[in-house]
Amino acid sequence: MEFRDLKRQYLYLKEDMDLKIHEVIGQTNFIQGKQVAELEKQLANYIGTKHCVACANGTDALQLALMTWNIGQGDAVFVPDFTFFSSGEVVSAVNAVPVFVDVEPDTCNIDCDSLEILVQKVIREGRLKPKVIVSVDLFGQPADYRKLKKIAEKYHMYILEDAAQGFGGKIGERKACSFGDISTTSFFPAKPLGCYGDGGAVFTDNDEWAELICSYRVHGKGSSKYDNVRIGMNSRLDTLQAAVLLAKFPVFIEKELERMQGISAQYTEQLKDVVTTPFIKDGFYSSWAQYTIQVSDKTARDGLQAYLKEQGIPSVVYYQKPMHRQLAFEGNKYDDHDYPATNKLSEIVLSLPFHPYMKEEEITLVANAVKAYLRG
Ligand SMILES: *Cc1c(COP(=O)(O)O)cnc(C)c1O
Repeated sequence: MEFRDLKRQYLYLKEDMDLKIHEVIGQTNFIQGKQVAELEKQLANYIGTKHCVACANGTDALQLALMTWNIGQGDAVFVPDFTFFSSGEVVSAVNAVPVFVDVEPDTCNIDCDSLEILVQKVIREGRLKPKVIVSVDLFGQPADYRKLKKIAEKYHMYILEDAAQGFGGKIGERKACSFGDISTTSFFPAKPLGCYGDGGAVFTDNDEWAELICSYRVHGKGSSKYDNVRIGMNSRLDTLQAAVLLAKFPVFIEKELERMQGISAQYTEQLKDVVTTPFIKDGFYSSWAQYTIQVSDKTARDGLQAYLKEQGIPSVVYYQKPMHRQLAFEGNKYDDHDYPATNKLSEIVLSLPFHPYMKEEEITLVANAVKAYLRG
């Protein structure tokens, strides 16, 4: 069994996928070909933002946003403590300071009460200026933007929505990638909408920022790539990846998203009496980047993972280590007591095999193995 079966998906898409890939090779327009512009148009249209700027990966997408806002030395950027490394890495990469914030124990998304306490602490200490909240839509569920917007407005901060896992999610009818002042996503192969390599995108309604992001994406270009008006980076999405995404996108919105709702419901039905199943807030819709259960303690979690492995069932711990304990951030001072939820989650979570091409008997096989182990 595969954790995320991309081969099965390819077999389903093969005809159109091969056609679209060969079209690019035939046209040899490997960089900034017309497929890139077409993809940007389709994605902006789907999300409902004015602009979509494709780029090389989800990490660059976040960094491009911070560069656009001129975030740097002396700035505080608030980031959930329970996320993939990138969400905080980009903050240090532009010389600002990541201030990690504990998460809600049920949704695993940023906790707004802890956030406000830390913002006030930063203001009181007076060393850093609060500038940005990086809100991560973890495991596919959007963060709580109604609460986040109140805090952002009160303290004059921007929201940078990291929807690397959130693409396809919604709150009511409003889609993930539209909640931030700038929002970003990743097309890493295992993400909800993945390409066949690295890829990412930035979304915004702001014309001026969109123009800056386009410039930073290609060496800080002015009127052309040989007229350079600022220090930027090389972060284009290549045409082959855009073609792959053009083949996948219609199937993702017409079929895969709905299938994932069904698969998650089946898992939950079978597992709800033995583990803590994922909690989705009322009115929220997850894109199911992961199906992550919580068990009683670390011993049970590690034992379960080893047992599943013996049965040929892959599983992954997202995430083993809270951000504030990462060696890379040891130059900043964090108080381990500020992160009770994250510290606990890192010991008890386990993500199970999950993808839109999973068969009913596979779901049952995994669920039965989980039950067999935990019920002894
Ligand atoms: C995957 C991921 C990223 C980074 O995306 P890449 O395309 O791998 O650079 C950033 N943030 C989160 C939450 C992610 O899961």
